[in-house]
Amino acid sequence: MTEPRPTGLPSYGLRPAPSASRPRDERPGVTGLLPEELGAWFTAHDQPAYRARQVQDAAWRGGQESFDQILTLPTALRPELDAAFRFDTMSETEVRITDGGLTEKALHRLSDGLLIESVLMHYPARGESRERHTLCISSQAGCAVGCPFCATGELGMERDLETAEIVDQVRHAARRLAANGQHLTNVVFMGMGEPLLNLDRVLESIAALNDPKRFGLGARHIAVSTSGVVPGIRRLTALGPQFTLAVSLHAARDALRDVLVPLNRRWPVAEVMEAAREHARATGRRVTYEVTMIDGINDTDHDADAMAQLLRGELAHVNLIPMNPVAHTPWTGTPLPRVERFAARLATAGIATTIRFNRGTEIGAACGQLAAEHAGQAAPLVVQRRRERLVNESAAALRGERSHEPAPAGVGEEGP
Ligand code: SAH
Ligand code: SF4
Repeated sequence: MTEPRPTGLPSYGLRPAPSASRPRDERPGVTGLLPEELGAWFTAHDQPAYRARQVQDAAWRGGQESFDQILTLPTALRPELDAAFRFDTMSETEVRITDGGLTEKALHRLSDGLLIESVLMHYPARGESRERHTLCISSQAGCAVGCPFCATGELGMERDLETAEIVDQVRHAARRLAANGQHLTNVVFMGMGEPLLNLDRVLESIAALNDPKRFGLGARHIAVSTSGVVPGIRRLTALGPQFTLAVSLHAARDALRDVLVPLNRRWPVAEVMEAAREHARATGRRVTYEVTMIDGINDTDHDADAMAQLLRGELAHVNLIPMNPVAHTPWTGTPLPRVERFAARLATAGIATTIRFNRGTEIGAACGQLAAEHAGQAAPLVVQRRRERLVNESAAALRGERSHEPAPAGVGEEGP
């Protein structure tokens, strides 16, 4: 069931997070099991080891939707498996298609009723580059970090996802693609939640996606995005070159980043950069820095120059993304000419920069937007108070004043 909302979280006067509506199904999802764990279950049931492989193949590669449909298994064994494990941890999935078929947004209901999202983006072949199908997945239901421009941040934290709940988002997309003779080429942890605050489960799911006997996706095709959880970045660095690390930077100046990414009050820009720099140095992999561009807030020449100064000489790539409109913020995305101006200033400083457009804006493809919609409307007064507070906080930040708000509770004290 739902954990009580942590106290001290900067709530911006938000409505309470949508609660789970029923108890969680305690049966582990089959895709969250290690091959040896599944093997042990079959051994305990006096079954040959190859049965585990049959189940794993069906779960990861087959078109079956339940244990009952795995016809290679003895009939009597199927209900036993069903009593022990869930074949699919998504109890319901609704898919909405937009961008002329280029973006597919899936809203998944979990066993306890919580909603999470995944977004599948199709990129047709262009010139030298082959066609790509990238899935953006969630790592938590809600998020404790509470970035004010993010629909997930608005929802508050519900709970960490289980390993199977993370990888089953991938399985759903892979099935839809397979039906069209296509396959998934990239997975990015850029949906709901802060992956480095659920790092054990995220690493287990990456191992499953990476394992040639399970999903078999190359690590280079996986990216993990963080709002700057420094101990988590260090843990990833210790694992060596793996997947791409993306850091949601948004602002190079602490006063502003304190407002845009409340976790900055715990791990400020210099500490995040030190960890990211060390990651690039130790792994030899370029770190991606994401900047969600908000009109008049973090998109000035001054911000571009501060960012150029911060990243000059780093193994870095910057992605500029105009903010998707989100309810309850007083802000809008930066208009394209100013995004281009910002990009040009970074490029002049020798920093590789790309402008990205959030796909599927019309169906709310910014993370958490669909789930937020389903959570219902906040009272107008609450929205108004939150907007006023953001206007005041960002105005103070633009004058260079640091915030006195505490860091989000429960996410910084001991690290992940
Ligand atoms: N919690 C992690 C990963 C999920 S958010 C993180 O913050 O990095 C993935 C990306 O979506 C982040 O860079 C985030 O800043 C961006 N994002 C969130 N809301 C957005 C919005 N309304 N418009 C554009 N980008 C947004
Ligand atoms: Fe959480 Fe990332 Fe959204 Fe910030 S941007 S609230 S860290 S999901």
